[in-house]
Formats: sequence, C-alpha cells, structure tokens
Amino acid sequence: MKFQPISKWLPNAAKPLIIAGPCSAESEVQIMQVAETLSEAGSVQLLRAGVWKPRTRPNSFEGMGKNALPWLIKAEKEFGIPFVIEVANEEHVKAALDAGISHVWIGARTTVNPFSVQEIADALEGSNIPVFVKNPLNPDLQLWIGAIERLNAAGLEKLAAIHRGFSTYEKRAYRNSPNWEIPIELKTQFPELEIIVDPSHIGGDRSVLREISQKALDLGFDGLMIETHPNPDEALSDPKQQIFLHEFEAFISELEEKQPHFKDRIAKNQLEQLRKLIDEIDHGLIESLKHRQEIVAQIGDYKAEHGVTVFQLERWRKIISDRLSDAEARKVEIELVRSVWNEIHKASIRLQTDVVNRKLSQ
Ligand code: PEP
Ligand code: MN
Repeated sequence: MKFQPISKWLPNAAKPLIIAGPCSAESEVQIMQVAETLSEAGSVQLLRAGVWKPRTRPNSFEGMGKNALPWLIKAEKEFGIPFVIEVANEEHVKAALDAGISHVWIGARTTVNPFSVQEIADALEGSNIPVFVKNPLNPDLQLWIGAIERLNAAGLEKLAAIHRGFSTYEKRAYRNSPNWEIPIELKTQFPELEIIVDPSHIGGDRSVLREISQKALDLGFDGLMIETHPNPDEALSDPKQQIFLHEFEAFISELEEKQPHFKDRIAKNQLEQLRKLIDEIDHGLIESLKHRQEIVAQIGDYKAEHGVTVFQLERWRKIISDRLSDAEARKVEIELVRSVWNEIHKASIRLQTDVVNRKLSQ
C-alpha cells in the first residue's frame, strides 16, 4: 500500500498530531466555542465532532446530522482549523463532501463491516480526501488492514489509522481494552502508516486519559485524538470521558513528548551496550533450548522403546508447578514463564510424537 504522510496534506501538521473536539456536534454555539478556544490554545491541528452518532441502543441522541455541517464549515473558516467527522455510509459521504468537509474518519462499528467500508471507499473514490480508519470493535488486525486496503484500492492515499481500543465482555479498568500489541503490529507491517491513539474511547473516563495519552506517546505513536467539551457533564454523548474545554491546554502541556531517537551520544552508547547484553542472553537461551531439545529427543526414544505414552500428565504438572514457583522466588513475571513453558512443552510433545512415529514406520 502507498500512503502520503499527514505532513503532506494537513497544514500545520505536527508530531505528535493533536486532534480534539467534542464527541458530538450539539449546537453552533458549542462548535464555535470549541474552535475558538482550541485555536487560541494552539496545540490542536485538527478538530473533531461527530455529526451522525452510532449509538448502542436506540432512542439515544443520534447526532444533529447534516444540519451540523454548516456550523463546522463556518468554524473552520473563522478559526482556520479543519474538522474531521465520522462517515458510516454513502449518504454521509455525499453530504460531507457536498458541504465541503475536508477530512473524515471511519468509526469502529463501521470498520468491522467490509460491505460498509467498501460502500464508503466507492463513494470517496476520486475525492482524494484524507481518511482516518479506526480499528474494528473486535481485536482483529486483518479486518483493520482490510479496511485500509479497500480505501487505498479506491485511490485514497491520505490515510491514517486511529487506535481506539477493543470491546470486551467483562468490565475492565478501561472502556475498551488497548491491546497495544495490535497497533504495534500494524506499525511493524506498515511503517509508513501513521497511527493516532484515541485515549478517550480507550479509557471511557476522563480520570484515566492522562495515563493512556502518556503511554501512547511513550510507545511512539503519531498523535492523539481527544474528546473535549465546554461542559462535559451535560454532553449528549460520552459525558464521562470528555475533558473540560478550559482544561484542555493544560492537559496537553503536561504530557511529556518522547523522541524517536537518542540525541545524546553517551546515552546512545550505553543503550548499545545494554542491547549487546540482551543479544548475548538471547543466544544463550537458544543454546539452552537446543540442548533441551536434544535431551527431549533422547527421552522420546526411550519412551518409544519401552512403549510408554509421550504425554505424561504427572510429569507435566510437576514441571509447570516447579517452574512457576522458581519464577516466583526469582521475581520473574509468572505469566511470561507460564506461557513460555506451555510452548516449550507443546514443542516437546511434537518432537517426541515425531520420534515415536519414525520408530513405528521403521
Ligand atoms: C467517536 O469517535 O465518537 C466514536 C463513535 O468512536 P468509535 O467509533 O471509536 O466508537
Ligand atoms: Mn465519543
């Protein structure tokens, strides 16, 4: 896939990119107030507002619809910061493009549906408009990539992703589970694709926005999308997670920006030394695994010779409980040891099954 970096298509784009605004556009007064305050504060490059709101249950506020579009255009003209809005079908795309909206995003409930994404991609074809693609509700990286591919195949290259966390059935500390490894894998596969983190929808409560935002910057993501409202408690959608507009600038200025690379040569050398140590430790681990594998094969031979089953429940129980208590005593992360030994044991069973099968076919 081919992407154009945000700096090529957004005037005043910054790193990290800050997108902010209310969950929903509620009135012209609210939109003008948000645009004015945030343009004066100076840390925001793109304003957000939901016009059509996908609500979990019917009979909730479903957005002001296309009546809100002229407010956004007016605010953009007056305060100089463009808006991004959510589109979920062809009708939304047409209305947004007709009104002169310059950026759109695809929401999590739409990214899950390839038919909807294709409909939007077809409707956007030829517009060359920037599109932000939120992750699907479920932790499925392929579905997220698939949505981006559909847009790219429609000739859209001004693309970026938004990580807003994943739904879970159990109630957790956050509204949506961040599963950071998924956006990190997306970045690994598509280094050119910029990823903006949406701490508001991950956290679901303004009290946790700072820690999630800082984590996003610490991990080196490309920007933040944050919901802010002049009077969040009265907001028509997502009241708990929006931060007070008058606190927005302080919120941003308290975040610590991280550099992607070391500026200081001495610090860089120290890091290199530590990385060498890690390389040595890893090679030592592989050496140990090789040795272990040889012994496992010998045991396999022995079991085959004596007609004993490969899987020995008692022995496995003893191994895992011994390794976990050793890990606990040495303060090594228990879950890490549990998952590593599960894999090691599975590999041993595979190896010994092969040994037995080979013996049988001789
Ligand atoms: C939103 O940004 O207000 C929204 C509805 O987001 P999501 O699609 O991430 O739930
Ligand atoms: Mn919202």
